[in-house]
Amino acid sequence: AKDIKRPPATRYLTVSNQKGGVGKTTTAVNIAAALARAGLNVLVVDIDPQGNASTALGIPHSADVDSIYDVLLDDVPLADVLVPCPDIENLLCAPATIHLAGAEIELVSLVAREQRLRRALEQYETHRADTGQERLDYVIIDCPPSLGLLTVNAFVAAREVVIPIQCEYYALEGLSQLLNNISMIQKHLNASLKVSTILLTMYDGRTNLAAQVAAEVREHFPSQVLDAVIPRSVRISEAPSYQQTVITYDPSSSGALSYQEAATEINERSAAV
Ligand code: ADP
Ligand code: MG
Repeated sequence: AKDIKRPPATRYLTVSNQKGGVGKTTTAVNIAAALARAGLNVLVVDIDPQGNASTALGIPHSADVDSIYDVLLDDVPLADVLVPCPDIENLLCAPATIHLAGAEIELVSLVAREQRLRRALEQYETHRADTGQERLDYVIIDCPPSLGLLTVNAFVAAREVVIPIQCEYYALEGLSQLLNNISMIQKHLNASLKVSTILLTMYDGRTNLAAQVAAEVREHFPSQVLDAVIPRSVRISEAPSYQQTVITYDPSSSGALSYQEAATEINERSAAV
């Protein structure tokens, strides 16, 4: 499937939601995998101390590994910590290690503490150009489930926020807090940030509740919600224990296909964003 169009410029997406367990990491790695498999140049930046995105992409992230921590805290060039995903061509990952857990505190006293990821990415793109590499098509940042300085760094580095929403009763609760935080960032740190994409995840088609929540979210955010919906799927939840995305673990499963659709839709919206 190399018929996919490259976006006109690098797109910077951050997958965010201050709730844990809503499918942020699963969305980040599977969208990344689908885009890379289609031939695009993709970089996943893992900024969650848990390192779940690194795990799902098969990237080592034990405490001794050079990681995004070194980039954010010690000015190590991003190029020095990137690791190619072993199973997927064109997919690079900046791993997260447990050291990141201290970064929220350690960043506080640094100069330009909110801009560190953005600057590291800018330097990296210059480095790619200088070394004759193609530009990146997508940078996808996987955030921790909090609104601390790591997430702020992601919001400053990104142009687009992708919000995964779990189709359950409390889905919309907390969303207004997230949107308020994004407005604060737009006002003070990154005027070009916007919520471009909302993805309904863990959808259980057998329940009325899921359908109601989905309808409600679509009503509130008609232009942001993707047509593609990610079903609740055992294959999706199994994949990380094999250090895989569902795209590589079981490419013909409904979960893999729906993430592929979502990725195609995101890419087709390149012109609009
Ligand atoms: P977050 O990054 O927001 O904390 P994760 O992506 O890690 O959320 O997902 C939380 C858990 O739910 C993980 O165990 C993941 O494998 C599982 N999961 C995510 N999406 C699905 C899905 N569509 N169907 C079934 N399980 C899922
Ligand atoms: Mg996560």
